[in-house]
Amino acid sequence: MSEDKEQSARDQALAECHIDTLAVRAGQTRTMEGEHSEPIFTTSSYVFNSAASAAARFSGEEQGNVYSRYTNPTVRNFEQRIAAMEGAEMGVGTSSGMAAILSTVMALLKSGDHIICSRSVFGTTTVMFNKYMEKFGVEISYVSLTDIDEWQQAVRSNTAMLFMETPSNPLCELADITEVACIARDCSALLVVDNCFCTPVLQQPLSLGADIVVHSATKYLDGQGRCVGGVVVGKQQHMDEVLGFIRTCGPTMSPFNAWVFLKGLETLNLRMQAHCANALALAQWLESQPSVTKVHYAGLESHPQHALAARQMRGFGGVLSFEVAGGKDEAWRFIDATRIVSLTANLGDAKTTIVHPATTTHSRLTPEARAAAGISDNLIRLAVGLEHIDDLIVDMERGISAL
Ligand SMILES: *Cc1c(COP(=O)(O)O)cnc(C)c1O
Repeated sequence: MSEDKEQSARDQALAECHIDTLAVRAGQTRTMEGEHSEPIFTTSSYVFNSAASAAARFSGEEQGNVYSRYTNPTVRNFEQRIAAMEGAEMGVGTSSGMAAILSTVMALLKSGDHIICSRSVFGTTTVMFNKYMEKFGVEISYVSLTDIDEWQQAVRSNTAMLFMETPSNPLCELADITEVACIARDCSALLVVDNCFCTPVLQQPLSLGADIVVHSATKYLDGQGRCVGGVVVGKQQHMDEVLGFIRTCGPTMSPFNAWVFLKGLETLNLRMQAHCANALALAQWLESQPSVTKVHYAGLESHPQHALAARQMRGFGGVLSFEVAGGKDEAWRFIDATRIVSLTANLGDAKTTIVHPATTTHSRLTPEARAAAGISDNLIRLAVGLEHIDDLIVDMERGISAL
């Protein structure tokens, strides 16, 4: 068989495979060197065989690389792998998760359009919408993630995009993606889901009716806290627009970061299972502690949307939050008494992280807005990592003893 035929036979065989197999193998095209692991192409530009070929590449008549702001083989490898895992036609890598959201909005919306966004999205996403999108004449309405009637009632004649993150951070609330997708379809708007907390291993929004999925690859896709990056996946017609924006405006993913994420994907399925198992065990342990007044985790039967989570997700994720008896002082004492977990706002890392949302990630909100969002002063968030569960429980016992 010729090289091309072998490649297309491999691609066909892969198309039938499970997500674990796609995570390890999708998107790879071997070079003439026959390398087993994917190479990093650290090159800014590419050489053409002739003047005629250069002209054809520039005009788009001939397929191929021109410049790494446009395309790069390592970035393409990552894009194709994550697109295969999300069940998408195409993916576009970006320089960060925020760049993924910005590129989606810039490529697909115009002045005069209206976005409906769930109130509990990543704080910086809200700042981007309010400060920068509104400046360019895009209107934003915020609705409760969980209340389908609010989504419906927010629809206007110029609504062009519905944007959500489910489950939410840090309270682990859910939206029913299928229901919100119906509203989007009825008003001819695009449903965009930030799937950072679940990854395609735990939730595939496109299969539930969403049009576009965005990721901060910085989190679980990397999984070890090394690189900043993002990705957008969806239908080719939409992704061509997003790629057009990236090529022109420049928030491109670096080949080195793409390679780190690509290798991260190979272990994503195993890591997510371990994150979920540790988080559930910790949530159950915390729920049994008298000085913990509430635990927010969709894997607990006490969670009001546990049934929806079990239906919509293949695991309940690695992030949970809980409230201690008392207020800010008690929460701070708990956090400062821990010795193993890291005090940092990041998440999606092999290392467990702990943070006090009211005074860090959500400190920009007014006290009233924080209270409305359910971020109380006694709330602590954990992004549970891959350490041994017994050691994590011992560390939580240190926190409990300080109360
Ligand atoms: C971190 C994060 C982002 C932003 O990603 P960056 O890579 O930091 O730009 C967006 N959405 C969610 C849910 C996140 O957790």
